[in-house]
Amino acid sequence: MAPSQFDLFVIGAGSGGVRASRMAAQRGARVAVADDAPLGGTCVNLGCIPKKLYSFAAHYAEAFEEAHGYGFDVSNTGLDWPRLKANRAAEITRLNAIYGGLLGNAGVTLFPGRARVVGANEVEVTVDGQVQVHHARTILVATGGRPTLPAIPGHELAISSDQIFDLPEFPRRLVVVGGGYIACEFASIFEGLGAQVTQLYRGEQVLRGFDNDVRHFVANEMRKKGVDLRTGSDVESLSRAPGTATETSPGAILVTLRDGSQLQADTVLYATGRHPNTAGLGLTEAGVALSAKGAVVVDAHYASNVPSILAIGDVTDRIQLTPVALAEAMAVVDSLFGDGRRSVDYELIPTAVFTHPSIGTVGLSEEKAGEQYGEVRIFRSDFRALKHTLSGSTERTLMKMVVDAASDRVVGLHMVGADAGEIIQGFAVAMRAGATKAVFDSTIGIHPTMAEEFVTMREPVVS
Ligand code: NDP
Repeated sequence: MAPSQFDLFVIGAGSGGVRASRMAAQRGARVAVADDAPLGGTCVNLGCIPKKLYSFAAHYAEAFEEAHGYGFDVSNTGLDWPRLKANRAAEITRLNAIYGGLLGNAGVTLFPGRARVVGANEVEVTVDGQVQVHHARTILVATGGRPTLPAIPGHELAISSDQIFDLPEFPRRLVVVGGGYIACEFASIFEGLGAQVTQLYRGEQVLRGFDNDVRHFVANEMRKKGVDLRTGSDVESLSRAPGTATETSPGAILVTLRDGSQLQADTVLYATGRHPNTAGLGLTEAGVALSAKGAVVVDAHYASNVPSILAIGDVTDRIQLTPVALAEAMAVVDSLFGDGRRSVDYELIPTAVFTHPSIGTVGLSEEKAGEQYGEVRIFRSDFRALKHTLSGSTERTLMKMVVDAASDRVVGLHMVGADAGEIIQGFAVAMRAGATKAVFDSTIGIHPTMAEEFVTMREPVVS
């Protein structure tokens, strides 16, 4: 069969790949996308979306307990895990179909199979055992990443976040290893859903890179809710706990720590980082330079050292966030099919961690701002939210602002509390517009909200 000719061949139909395909096709380009997994990539299938659905579920359990103070008696009869899993799966299937519809409507040719680069302008796709080679002016690699586990003895007994959503049995005792986004989120979520959670982190404090105040505050709140968070804890090995196997279960997992102590778990979740998905893609053979971690090395315009092969999103191992991949996709499409070369501005990227309570943050931590600007003013508020005056919950909220003393610009905004991501998203716009503390001060608050704290912070705690 003669090879098809495409302007753009996208490998990977995740957040970045789907966005690039659709937008390029809408601009009249002949576009193909290949993926051998359900459409939507990690975010839709095994990441952001199912994680947030499970976070909502966990918040219900909390709300049932808190309802009493508001005059309702709701008995929490425990989680129906099979029902939650089935409803999540149905929603994800619905989203997969929507992604398919979006691609089809835009005129993108979808190859539901595995793709491999076989030349600077050639992609080989295997669909149902049939191998086809297609020619493309530009190849865009958007294959994302995958969880990686350290090779400790017994690591095969552990699962990654890829398996957590569909566990056959709800884990009564869950051990989570790691202190990053994924570890903290799942520790919180499964504690909320009713598991007894132990989180083991090798370092001094979870969420390295976040504002230190935020790290300590959220760790304390997670512990208050019941997560047994142990820092300075490194796992030596995993094995089957002797004498715990039954006819229906292989038995508990024995977690042995470096200090010699042991604990048992039904499930051990490793959330120790993710690696780019480049294995078997044919990139090295095509002359594409990869980093030591396997990431496609790209320039400011997402081009690899082979100019016709570009890469965006997690496969470049830079900022592993869906909205960043989307922005990179738009920049590539604008560059290829628009009126000029574009790249993404990586300053002031807001982000949330869906711990309970959640974290929302944009800009610099107090520590980084100090290094960058020298003199900074810190405004900080730590309070019990109005909702919890009747709910009985002891949860506290932290709101913190970092201001460059010389220019009065707000250079960091951090929150630990309910809906922190929703609140920080709005303020991120103001910060990108260069808002000063004076602009925040002149903004009228919305009362009574938590967000109004950010416009009513008067006295710095450090100046
Ligand atoms: P992270 O890189 O955030 O965290 C990895 C954690 O594992 C760190 O605490 C690290 O410790 C620890 N670790 C690494 N290697 C080992 C090891 N050999 N033994 C023990 N601990 C180890 O990765 P995640 O997997 O949590 O998440 C990947 C990315 O996905 C994130 O960076 C984030 O960008 C994205 N993400 C975003 C979300 C959101 O936007 N809400 C949600 C989930 C993921 P140390 O600090 O000591 O290196």
